[in-house]
Amino acid sequence: MSSEKMGFNSKLIHAGDFEDELGSATTPIYQSSTFKFKSADHGAACFAGEEDGYIYTRIGNPTIGELENTVAALENGFGGIGTSSGMGAVTSVYMAYLGAGEHMVSHNALYGPSRAVMESLFSKFGVEYSYIDTTDLKQVKEAIRPNTKLLYIETPANPTIGITDIEAVSNIAHEFGIPVCVDNTFCSPYLQNPLDLGADIVLHSMTKFINGHADIVAGMLVAKTEEDHKLLRGVMANMGCNMDPHQAFMTRRGLKTLGIRIDRAQDNARKIADFLEKHPKVEWVKYPGLESHPQYELAKKQMRGPGSMISFGLKNGIEAGKVMMDNVKLALLAVSLGGIETLIQHPASMTHAKLTEEAKHIAGISDGLVRLSIGIEDVDDIMEDLDQALGKV
Ligand SMILES: *Cc1c(COP(=O)(O)O)cnc(C)c1O
Repeated sequence: MSSEKMGFNSKLIHAGDFEDELGSATTPIYQSSTFKFKSADHGAACFAGEEDGYIYTRIGNPTIGELENTVAALENGFGGIGTSSGMGAVTSVYMAYLGAGEHMVSHNALYGPSRAVMESLFSKFGVEYSYIDTTDLKQVKEAIRPNTKLLYIETPANPTIGITDIEAVSNIAHEFGIPVCVDNTFCSPYLQNPLDLGADIVLHSMTKFINGHADIVAGMLVAKTEEDHKLLRGVMANMGCNMDPHQAFMTRRGLKTLGIRIDRAQDNARKIADFLEKHPKVEWVKYPGLESHPQYELAKKQMRGPGSMISFGLKNGIEAGKVMMDNVKLALLAVSLGGIETLIQHPASMTHAKLTEEAKHIAGISDGLVRLSIGIEDVDDIMEDLDQALGKV
């Protein structure tokens, strides 16, 4: 059966299309830095890209390749490029599309390090950027300049859960010939396929949902066209932010259960969001599955489900946030997301503590904002834990 015809969960298991000579049920770990050529001519053809063949693991490797093919099939793209981390993928995209005097449009609530690497490193080489509210299409149009070479968005955004209309912003960018990259980490390909909505590149921190077991850091890019795939592969390989075969094997193993993990976490999250919305200590809840979410309709249009990331606001700001963090017992007080375990964090005192008051305000991070990544535990246990921790606030 060709993988194009398979359902999503079948693709998770079979889409990598790897035939092992010995019939191994899983893709073996090709723990080799380099690969023998059959002859001088074969070596020359591999280097010229005329023949398929592995050369050197920084450029490509069969274990990594099977994972790349699988994620590319899940995202309906031409090809994938595995990276050492999500940030390896982010920096590869910036490197590939931006040069001195060129400009990127992105949004305020961007993942912290994606913003930091632009503001503190790429700016040193003369790259310019504008951070706007991409949920407002008027701002997107106004931010585009003659030297804009990349539109880079995350949706839902971290940790505000704001949703950008991928189709609408892609249409605007394409009018000006600008490529669009979507960080799809919060949804995973199970819930959202940005390439189908018009984006050109999809980015994942596979550390999160794709691997899902909090034991690997890894990233992936999927390009819609052969041309972009080739460009990104070259940049990644030359910068050396490649995956390693063991890391690829672990990630591939985690990926097989993506569908059942997300179904379960999402069921839990819907119940937790309802519970929080009714809780007297909670001022507001932001979850794409709640009708109170300002972009509830857009979420239903571009996502296949609301996912398992919830943000909510505590009434008494920073102090209340810290008290809650100190009192959770089942949820892990930790950053990251998308794993089998429930994680809780408080951006104002943790991930976003270094931002100025103004920057926090612009990014939509209030002092009482708490972010939850709901896991696959029994929902009653998660609820009981959150309830008792809220009781101490
Ligand atoms: C974690 C994360 C990244 C960075 O990924 P790493 O694997 O930690 O390097 C990028 N974008 C988003 C939305 C993330 O959550």
